[in-house]
Amino acid sequence: MKRFRQIAGLVFSLGLVAGGFAALAQQSARVAPADIIVVHGKIFTADEGSPWAQSVAIYKGKIAAVGRDDEVSRLRGIGTKMIDAGGRLVLPGFTDCHIHFIGGGFGLRRLNLEGAANIADIQNRLRKYAAEHAGEEWILGRGWNYAMFAPETLPQKKYLDEIVPDRPVFLRAYDGHTSWANSKALALAGITKSTPNPPNGEIVRDPQTGEPTGALKEAASAVVNKIVPKPDHVEQLNAMRAGIKWAAQNGITRVHSAGGDFEELDVLRELRDEGQLWVRFHVAYLLEPPELRPQDISAIESARKKSHDEWIDVDSVKFLLDGVVESHTAAMLEPYTDDPSKRGSLFWDVEKYRAAVADLDKRGLQIYTHAIGDAAVRTALDAYEYAAQRNHTRDRRHRIEHLETIAQSDIARFGKLGVIASMQPLHSYPDADTLDVWARNVGPERAGRAWAWRSIAEEGGQYAFGSDWPVVTLNPWEGIQTAVTRQTSDGKPADGFVRAQRLTVSQAVQGYTLNAAFAGRLERTEGSVEPGKVADLIVLDRNIFEVSSNTIGQTKVLLTIAGGKIVYEAENR
Ligand SMILES: [Zn+2]
Repeated sequence: MKRFRQIAGLVFSLGLVAGGFAALAQQSARVAPADIIVVHGKIFTADEGSPWAQSVAIYKGKIAAVGRDDEVSRLRGIGTKMIDAGGRLVLPGFTDCHIHFIGGGFGLRRLNLEGAANIADIQNRLRKYAAEHAGEEWILGRGWNYAMFAPETLPQKKYLDEIVPDRPVFLRAYDGHTSWANSKALALAGITKSTPNPPNGEIVRDPQTGEPTGALKEAASAVVNKIVPKPDHVEQLNAMRAGIKWAAQNGITRVHSAGGDFEELDVLRELRDEGQLWVRFHVAYLLEPPELRPQDISAIESARKKSHDEWIDVDSVKFLLDGVVESHTAAMLEPYTDDPSKRGSLFWDVEKYRAAVADLDKRGLQIYTHAIGDAAVRTALDAYEYAAQRNHTRDRRHRIEHLETIAQSDIARFGKLGVIASMQPLHSYPDADTLDVWARNVGPERAGRAWAWRSIAEEGGQYAFGSDWPVVTLNPWEGIQTAVTRQTSDGKPADGFVRAQRLTVSQAVQGYTLNAAFAGRLERTEGSVEPGKVADLIVLDRNIFEVSSNTIGQTKVLLTIAGGKIVYEAENR
């Protein structure tokens, strides 16, 4: 650590330490004692000027001083709570730049099939859940994956009927694109052999009998979903509380909500008023095609007026411009390699999208565009460039979400246009889904630029990281591991999946801290451990800068402080 810095603006270089102490001692009569002081830490501050420190003092929810133990301890008073970090790694609280929070919260309280090994494992989990939730009218859950049902890769209603024949069961795939219903749920929804497929959806049928199998693709899920009882206010509050607790346990102190939470702003405000909001929310409004309407603008502007503080702010609008590579719905500049009859298409008319972007840009709003195919990425970059020219605006920090593929010539445009690459490292986890389906679909040439965060940064662009929870876990340590290794936990592929895109640990941490704050237009108050910034800190059980990189994902958070308050403490700390 090079310097001791205090909020009053005192900056002592090493050579001036003695003089600095004298100045501080003279001043101490006027300096209020800290509320909390963390000592004996290995603090990675994410502040380029002085990246390492031992101790940090907190006063009224803000960081008051950062430096060496002996320096910072001078702010100790009678009421100061001392926290001994015991030489552990301390980081700024993490930001998750892409999340669907209430959906994740509901998932925590419902049947969770993540990581289930096979059909028997799913049945055991269902049996247990059904017994523990005997009063629930519907059994809802999520998290199954297609590989469990190999070779046909789609589930069957009979596996659910064997365990729960008398109550409806409705379970989403991990990616939200397919659902699995039992016979009772299909009957309640009126789905029979003769029910036609809805637009953009498929009721999967047995090829011999024509009977619905229980698998519902894309828009067909809505046929069942619309008769599922809507969660009441108490259930919403409980889901949000469960999500907040889970986020704090994983070291997340700020989220950028990319859809689904705008409708929950009242729930967030209620939790804040009760002192139970421990995660800061930056909430985007999800704008549906075909165009920006006056009622969208009034919804956004009125929420923006109501919510613009450190804990809840509404300042951004999310567009969905295309689909996903796996189902050939991501919009590509050239046809898919495995099926040249397809290249995906945009969900928006390009002119209407561009007009909406320009209008929102003029209002000072920040734009998130989901763009996974290289054609969608280019369309978004073009629209952002057009808006800045037309409105003479600068530094809006519009964002592209996901950008799993990119044309070579568009890489440098992120830096040039100041567009943020908001990416989710765990989506690049090189398992069979990524290597055998994703990479096959785009072919080797385009797969060579898969999740190109490092190339974007080297060309002057800025990346920021998140999870897309509940599509994958919100645990950021698995994301860091994947960004650093581009390998599975057991080291495959040996060379890494597009190894040129590997980041160092500190670059990956920046993606969740200072870069993430920048992506949220909040870098003046968040994202690093610096005097004057919010006191959001986490203490880890291991030093991720030193452990073997393929064990970073096993990191546990021991302590989370948000706004100067301890919001999570591991039992074994
Ligand atoms: Zn998302």
